[in-house]
Amino acid sequence: MQLRVKTKLNAGLAFLFLVIILIGGMGALYIYRISKQSKDVLKDNYETIQYAKSMMQAIDNIQLDTVTAFSTIEENLKKQENNITEAGEQGLTMEIRKEFTALKLNKERPFSLLKQQLYRLSDINMNAIVRKNNAAQRTADRALAYIGIIGAICVIVVFTFIINFPGYIADPIKNLTESIKQIAAKNYNQRLHFKSNDEFGELAKAFNVMAEELDKYENSNLAKIMFEKKRIETIINNMRDAIIGLNEKKIILFANVQATALLGLKEIDLAGKYAPDVALSNDLMRLLLNPNSGTTPIKIVADGKESYFNKESVEIVSNEKPIGEVILLKNITRFQELDLAKTNFIATISHELKTPIASIKLSSKLLEDDRVGQLNEEQQQLVKNIKEESERLLKITGEVLNIAQVETGKIQLNLQTVSPKKIIEYAVEALKFQAEQKEVSFKIECGEHLPSVNADMEKTAWVMVNLLSNALRYSPEKESIIIKAEEKGENILFSVQDFGKGIDQQYQGKIFDKYFRVPGSKKEGTGLGLAISKEFIEAQNGTISLESTQGKGSAFFFTLEKSGLPKTPAT
Ligand code: ADP
Repeated sequence: MQLRVKTKLNAGLAFLFLVIILIGGMGALYIYRISKQSKDVLKDNYETIQYAKSMMQAIDNIQLDTVTAFSTIEENLKKQENNITEAGEQGLTMEIRKEFTALKLNKERPFSLLKQQLYRLSDINMNAIVRKNNAAQRTADRALAYIGIIGAICVIVVFTFIINFPGYIADPIKNLTESIKQIAAKNYNQRLHFKSNDEFGELAKAFNVMAEELDKYENSNLAKIMFEKKRIETIINNMRDAIIGLNEKKIILFANVQATALLGLKEIDLAGKYAPDVALSNDLMRLLLNPNSGTTPIKIVADGKESYFNKESVEIVSNEKPIGEVILLKNITRFQELDLAKTNFIATISHELKTPIASIKLSSKLLEDDRVGQLNEEQQQLVKNIKEESERLLKITGEVLNIAQVETGKIQLNLQTVSPKKIIEYAVEALKFQAEQKEVSFKIECGEHLPSVNADMEKTAWVMVNLLSNALRYSPEKESIIIKAEEKGENILFSVQDFGKGIDQQYQGKIFDKYFRVPGSKKEGTGLGLAISKEFIEAQNGTISLESTQGKGSAFFFTLEKSGLPKTPAT
């Protein structure tokens, strides 16, 4: 039967305890024995020798003081008679008593026999002391030998214990730690081989079962997962779009072939790298990480060919926690080319249409002239219709041409110093007739001493006309429209405010988009006017904005930079 670790520990400690008791006990026993032997020697023999010595001295002094000498001998002889310890001592003491009695009766009797007897008594006890001393010496030697042997055995056992015990506890723990590390590194073949049946043995069994289960799980899924991984990698690599995957700490997880080609980096330079670090030396990566990029197509020149990409960034969420981001660069070169072809086509067509429309306009004007011939009422109405429709057609072609120019980046600015009041007056003049028809009044609030602006007169006037015509179009009859120009820091702020139906909050963000019209707008239009206005104003470093409340009216604002010339009275 195998002992548990706890039992082994208890047994080890009990053994050490026993060793201490044994050595201590033996030491105490032998010390007691030696002490007893020396006490015996003192009591049994040393005292007898002292008695004999006192009696001898008394004999030597007998001539001087007989009475005292006899009493001393008597006294010591009595003590000796009570201290018989050695073999032969009893008989000798009796002989001494007999001789002493004889000496007391016959004062002439010599003391030589008594002296001899006392010498013999001393000898017996001296021999006994020597013998007992030898015995004590032997006891001490034995004690030393026993304690030495037991001590040596204990030292060997305890030393073995000290050497082996830490290893006995620590080795399995070390093996276990090592094996857990292997498991963490996905080496599921790792097993523990503890032979014992103690707690470590049980631990090893449990560990091996766990490793086996993990191994089974890994093997059952691994091939499948690897296959799927390969397939997804192949799909991602064969896509025309560039794809870069980042984790939540912006570490690059993967980049497909297109992405590495566009970035001009090898996969090895990207995978596992911190994306902002890569961005330090890579412009495209910097652009991709910028959350504000992606509103306009990104132009990339690679292998001498221009390509256009749309950036899309998708946040990956798992269990409601963001775990990373996938950046997609969609190749839109083909669409861009088609779009450009379309824009060029529209530009050409609208440009070409302008001349015949202008000619129709002129011809219809001529038709109205009596010199060409008198028209009846019906013909006059028809000519009026032709004039109005050709006017509208001209406006539409003008707008389409403008937007085509904007899209192809062909805005030509002719910047000059213009007075804000002149811009306003130009637009008001252009729309005077329509305003009169609707009985709408224009209220102009423009200081006489406003600084001039640095602007393209033609384009700015076009914007003002567009804003004013929109305001007019959406104003109720007999209302007023406020047109303002005021100084705002480095800029002049223009505004056109109407009291019409206003624009719903949800459409305000899209109002400057191309072709956008508020759903339900019955009045005709192309949805291009505000988009062109935005481009024209922004091309002149200005900004355009809107404030509108549904049912109360709208106000459109735009800014233009002051010309920087000293203030001159507006003309
Ligand atoms: P268009 O007027 O040719 O439709 P715009 O770009 O000038 O194109 O205007 C876009 C849309 O914005 C219009 O269709 C209209 O719905 C809305 N809009 C513009 N100005 C106003 C205004 N002053 N009041 C109400 N809606 C307006």
